[in-house]
Amino acid sequence: MLSEQALLYGNQSSAIRTLFEYGRKRAAVVGKDKICDFSLGNPSVPPPQALFDAFEAVLKADPMDTHGYTSAVGCDELRAALAESMTRRFGMALKPENFFITAGAAAALTACFCALTPDRETEFIALAPYFPEYKVYSETLGAKLRIVPADEVNFQIDFDALERTISKNTRGVVINSPNNPSGVVYTRATLEKLAELLRRKSAEAGHPIFLISDEPYRELTYGGAEVTFVPSVYENTLVCYSWSKCLSMPGDRLGYVLVPEQVTEWKSVFAAVAGASRMIGHVCAPSIVQKAVAKCVDAMPDLTVYARNRNLLLEALPAMGYECAKPDGAFYLFFRSPRGSGNDFSEEAKARDLLLVPAVTFGCPNHLRIAYCVDTAVVERSLPIFKELMEKK
Ligand code: PLP
Repeated sequence: MLSEQALLYGNQSSAIRTLFEYGRKRAAVVGKDKICDFSLGNPSVPPPQALFDAFEAVLKADPMDTHGYTSAVGCDELRAALAESMTRRFGMALKPENFFITAGAAAALTACFCALTPDRETEFIALAPYFPEYKVYSETLGAKLRIVPADEVNFQIDFDALERTISKNTRGVVINSPNNPSGVVYTRATLEKLAELLRRKSAEAGHPIFLISDEPYRELTYGGAEVTFVPSVYENTLVCYSWSKCLSMPGDRLGYVLVPEQVTEWKSVFAAVAGASRMIGHVCAPSIVQKAVAKCVDAMPDLTVYARNRNLLLEALPAMGYECAKPDGAFYLFFRSPRGSGNDFSEEAKARDLLLVPAVTFGCPNHLRIAYCVDTAVVERSLPIFKELMEKK
């Protein structure tokens, strides 16, 4: 006998992975330069030199330290560097003790969902468009994930729908800004309204409703877009961060959960995150990566390529008639299918070797996602295909 749920997740490949694997096979037949593959959110710019230098220094240090376990909460150097950097950048006094270091955002989110699940009645809420893996992370320990439909005009929050979805069993709302797949950044006004609603609903429920702020794209913004530091707006916020996208190192697996001291009973919440992490077999994040990132927490790769790709697409697609969400961050552009569902249009595009992810699993069945973390040549090659698809009746 096997776990039905585990078997299901193991046999089910995500729409993104399926399309990506298709692209690899197709490229072997027609040549890589004939495919416009916008399927995967894998950074296409190298990490900054500061990270390479940091790895070099760590590799020269005491090997018993570099390759040994760190403490489960993470190594002292990284927690201290984070506390210093974030206190300086976001104006909230944070201490090393507020950070639990994880192997990426996936582990951080799973630990938070698990920590906030007291029983099988527990519900979390995600707002479409949402990262599909939230369902896997939250259901792992028996909680339910309820979905609020998207505000398809501005891709901010449909507050009436959210209010209707909150129940006495709601323990947390997960948000992701800058957003995958829409690229939209929540405004401060949106977050303030959300905070007000959650305060009111927490008081009605008699327990805090936490905000789980999933922020792997926090530093990827364009045109000076402001990304509000969510704990400055809502006290019961747990931040889940990752260096996968902002430092171009998704394979190195590093992130954290931030539990600020303003969180109700923060020490217990922190302990529950640590315990949850233990429950999912997360011993500690990779030691060598923790020590390297500790030396360059504020470093950033050169984002010129993403900005150029975004601008090219944003100039061209709306002029052709595509209805796009305004992407102030991340490296995704989201648009409404000009005809039929997102799945239908993705198939039409695929027949022309243009790979676009249909957004049904993100909770927006009529939209598609373009992951523009690719070489600019791919974007340039894709534009005539987008035009031809729009003009085809
Ligand atoms: N959350 C969002 C919105 C993502 O897009 C991703 C990865 O694509 C993750 C979480 C998981 O990131 P990580 O690689 O840090 O586990």
